Amino acid sequence: MPEAEGTEVRNVIIIGSGPAGYTAGIYTARAGLKPLLFEGSVTAGGALMNTTEVENFPGFPDGIMGPDLMDGLRKQAERFGAELVTDDVIEVDLSGPVKRVVDGNDDVHYARTVIIATGSGYRELGLPDEKRLSGHGVSWCATCDGFFFREKRILVVGGGDTAMEEATFLTRFGQSVTIVHRRGELRASKIMQERAMANPKISFEWNSEVSAILGEDKVTGVRLRDTRTGEEREIDADGLFIAIGHEPRSDLFKGQIDLDDEGYVTVDAPSTRTNLEGVFACGDVVDHTYRQAITAAGTGCAAALDAERFLAALE
Ligand code: FAD
Repeated sequence: MPEAEGTEVRNVIIIGSGPAGYTAGIYTARAGLKPLLFEGSVTAGGALMNTTEVENFPGFPDGIMGPDLMDGLRKQAERFGAELVTDDVIEVDLSGPVKRVVDGNDDVHYARTVIIATGSGYRELGLPDEKRLSGHGVSWCATCDGFFFREKRILVVGGGDTAMEEATFLTRFGQSVTIVHRRGELRASKIMQERAMANPKISFEWNSEVSAILGEDKVTGVRLRDTRTGEEREIDADGLFIAIGHEPRSDLFKGQIDLDDEGYVTVDAPSTRTNLEGVFACGDVVDHTYRQAITAAGTGCAAALDAERFLAALE
């Protein structure tokens, strides 16, 4: 696209406001690039806004509440001059040397580089009490929350590799780990199945789906429905880990940048370069593997440095 006459062309537009987006904001702002950062209209602050205590982000020996951590990152980006907009990006044209970004008010913005940091969503069961009890026994991340479930009775929902991995990891903490799966056999790879089945702490609830999560202030159990007979029964539990998949938020970029089979943005690792010049991606929208706040922040930093170097080479 030709450089639009009379319109401001920014150095950097950042799309996303989790640890990746804000960290990219801090670095590009400190480099004097005056980034414009779209935070999203509903979920500004990213995934950690939905959690309670974060105990594994370095630098906080006593832990920190997720929203407080995100507020700190936000203020830090603002302090160095990042311009934050609490709105969604609804359309992009990332081809050509000047990128076009349209926000929810239909305002159009232009930039020489775009950093994609839109994150990914955990698939939910879709039960009424799931959100209410998130951080109070319901979790989507064993690495993040396993530690809170020492000597507790844990349920893991899912039948794929992630569910087996999470369940196996959780046996380090829990008194027992029960895998709840809607079918009579697992989808997971053979080796992951074997590992889970050989673990004496792991048991299975086959042909079962969670139809309700029980508990007022914290999880006390679940109601299971037999997927063949429809019969229901309740079992006690202290924790429910939902491991039924992730959805990278990449729809906006489909057809423009390369995505893998599961919809994650592909980058020229270890850089954050996408297949399009001047477009960089970081955080959970790229990451199949680690999906942690610190790794998202780390790749947000890398994307900022990649954008900075790209811009320097244009001069
Ligand atoms: P996200 O945090 O997902 O942020 C992306 C944000 O970008 C979105 O929320 C939205 O606001 C914005 N956005 C998306 N699309 C658009 C758009 N079109 N326009 C504008 N803005 C947009 N990790 C840990 O390390 N420790 C923990 O203890 C921990 N606990 C967790 C607890 C829960 C309940 C959850 C859900 C996750 C937890 N995680 C934890 C994982 C961690 O939150 C993620 O790995 C991390 O937030 C990913 O960062 P991100 O910046 O890539 O994306």
